Amino acid sequence: MKSTMQDTPLLISRILLNGTRMHAEQEAVTWTAEGPRRTSYAEVGRKAAQLAHALRGLGIDGDQRVATFMWNNAEHLISYLAVPSMGAVLHALNIRLFPEQVIYVTNHAENQVVIVDNSLAAPFSKLLPHLATVRHVIVNGPVPDEVRDALAGASDRIEGVHDWDELLSGQPDSFDWPELDETTASSMCYTSGTTGNPKGVVYSHRSNYLHTMQVCMPTSLDIRQGDRLLAVVPMFHANAWGLPYAALMAGASLILPDRFLQAEPLARMIETEKVTGGGAVPTIWNDLLRYLDQHPTDCSSVRSVVVGGSACPPALMRAMQERHGVTVVHAWGMTEMSPLGSTAVAPVGTTGEEHWHYRETQGRVALSLDYRLVGPDGAEQPWDGTSVGEVEVRGPWITGSYYDNGQNSEAERADAESKFDDGWLRTGDVGSLTPDGFLVLTDRAKDVIKSGGEWISSVDLENALMAHPEVVEASVVGVPDEKWGERPLATVVRAPGATVDAAALQEFLAARLAHWQVPERWAFIDEVPKTSVGKFDKKVLRRRYAEGQLS
Ligand code: ADP
Repeated sequence: MKSTMQDTPLLISRILLNGTRMHAEQEAVTWTAEGPRRTSYAEVGRKAAQLAHALRGLGIDGDQRVATFMWNNAEHLISYLAVPSMGAVLHALNIRLFPEQVIYVTNHAENQVVIVDNSLAAPFSKLLPHLATVRHVIVNGPVPDEVRDALAGASDRIEGVHDWDELLSGQPDSFDWPELDETTASSMCYTSGTTGNPKGVVYSHRSNYLHTMQVCMPTSLDIRQGDRLLAVVPMFHANAWGLPYAALMAGASLILPDRFLQAEPLARMIETEKVTGGGAVPTIWNDLLRYLDQHPTDCSSVRSVVVGGSACPPALMRAMQERHGVTVVHAWGMTEMSPLGSTAVAPVGTTGEEHWHYRETQGRVALSLDYRLVGPDGAEQPWDGTSVGEVEVRGPWITGSYYDNGQNSEAERADAESKFDDGWLRTGDVGSLTPDGFLVLTDRAKDVIKSGGEWISSVDLENALMAHPEVVEASVVGVPDEKWGERPLATVVRAPGATVDAAALQEFLAARLAHWQVPERWAFIDEVPKTSVGKFDKKVLRRRYAEGQLS
């Protein structure tokens, strides 16, 4: 029997129109050196229409790619809304990638227009001569004449360098947003290339819409009307975990830190902007925790913040709660998953250690997604909380392939195909699922340490080490060992003035983990190297070990 329901498309323009009309008084607050700059959602809606008209004027009349090279700010939000809504495809470039990677992904995506923050225009001008498809650059904010000249003269392909305000001014402030097919591409994002070139993921209007609804749910990030969300996670890192669209959908304001990502300005934003929630990777919250410990800050407005991107040390979560009253919600996902896969909201009625146990997992799997665990022999593992396998996922906001516009090499194609298993995305994460659907990750498959036939979780060691009061950061990698194949090497950043040594830390670990898991190799370092999105960069640590810089 066919339903009698209408079939109208789920489009980002709906999020834009309804968000800016129904929640017109909510605002995007951009942090600047002079303090907060406020843009109401009503204004966001008008500017989005103006940007769309301006882009049409630059020849964007189909699904051409419009890229951003920007921090999190109001103009980035406006681009996030306008570009997909007009039928083009938004490509948020990761400003922290190596130059050759930015060049690769821009050429691969065939970006035609790039919107650049003025604070990033000078470094961007150095990349521009290598960006083979870019015709127009829009600069957000004033730039010195020499930077403008460098952009304009980067190559003879550049048809125009435009000032954002000038380009938008005088454009009509409403737009007849097209009724697109909901499966049309809306945006794209490249995963950081741990092996080889970055891989492109292309989202649709439908996938974004459904993902946004999931993000808002109480069992997920629980975003409510009137919330004030501090989006530290960059819009170029897996769609800022869905926060921009979720804020518009729910009627929440966004506090956008632009380039002010240090603990001190973030603490000021929390206090003065009365932040209720937000999202960032563990390293950001870790810095913030140490800052808050030393500089009393009013965090009483915060209901809960989400942490993801890598495993959140339980010690960090508990310290935030116990010392600052901030509830940290642990979530897991990937660029390929839009990114939200699971959120650790404990079941109702759990208290004490049982409650914490749930909170420390990677979270309960999202209702619209299918999950399975696949063991090394290819057999599906039960959801019994102990059986371990690689996590495979499928669902309406999970990618089914990587973007291939015919430029990919045979090797890249083979590598991309190996990430899928009969319609399921292989996440590369290894873990178990409890009967009630909570995911507990042991490690990334490539980071698990295989020692004498046993597996050691680098994450378990890191979490245990970061629970030591004199340890600020700890990252553990497997290094070759003649006898055991591989053994853990612990790299540790001590708190200022702390003197704790390897022997003391070995003793500390031995009380918490099996003795054979305790590392023999230790390196005390000033800072753990981080990836472009602020995760521990284990590749760099392994290389430093191989080059003899760590012992
Ligand atoms: P990148 O590959 O550049 O790090 P992603 O953010 O897409 O970009 O990375 C996704 C991966 O990050 C996941 O496959 C997983 O290994 C890791 N990850 C994300 N969230 C968590 C979490 N809460 N706990 C452990 N690992 C996580």
